Amino acid sequence: MRILLVAPPGAGKGTQGALIANHFHVPHIATGDLLRDHVARRTELGLAVQECLDRGELVHDEIVLDMVRVELEKAKNQGRGYVLDGMPRNMPQARSIYQVARTLDMTADVVLHLVADDDELVRRLLARAALEHRSDDTEEVVRRRLAIYHDVTHPIVAWYDQRGILVAVDAMQPVDHVSRQILTALEAMRPLISLVPESARTSIDLTGLGEAFGER
Ligand code: ADP
Repeated sequence: MRILLVAPPGAGKGTQGALIANHFHVPHIATGDLLRDHVARRTELGLAVQECLDRGELVHDEIVLDMVRVELEKAKNQGRGYVLDGMPRNMPQARSIYQVARTLDMTADVVLHLVADDDELVRRLLARAALEHRSDDTEEVVRRRLAIYHDVTHPIVAWYDQRGILVAVDAMQPVDHVSRQILTALEAMRPLISLVPESARTSIDLTGLGEAFGER
């Protein structure tokens, strides 16, 4: 399986990404984790991006693209798929990662969109801040990250929707409900992915499921 995760900060990208990767035995490529690892090791790249991370701003597209290209090549050499979490974050990144993936014959099968309200996201991120001390989890920076998400990241969702590879899930539910819906949808789609040509795919919107079963 080759999966992209698109979600606002606090929607559970990291948690769900790890779970999906584990379930399908594919690498979890999380750009935020890769960047924070560079910062922690004080590499040249880490020192260059630290300020952007602390301020909640996006680092240069090329930096992330180079990092992700290496990880996709590794996955390809191992004959595996991937869960890519944290990229793309704007339209230029979406186009360039598509080009890289096409060259490797590794374009995404599914783009998972985790949907949640801003108020809930802020609440979760501030609660996490109390536990984890991530430098970008202060209220001011959280609000900047959300604004960037709405301005430049969310618009890419429409592009994936048009390509028919979008699966939207309600991320306001408890973590295990979200996971169950994601894995159920992905397992149902898995055998079809190699059979249905890109031109015949249709997106799936599961965001009303919780309400349909009286869970919201
Ligand atoms: P969140 O989604 O909660 O903001 P991430 O761990 O995905 O958390 O990202 C943390 C930070 O890493 C971002 O605020 C940004 O500074 C940087 N970052 C991660 N991915 C990218 C990307 N694709 N392009 C630019 N910056 C990125």
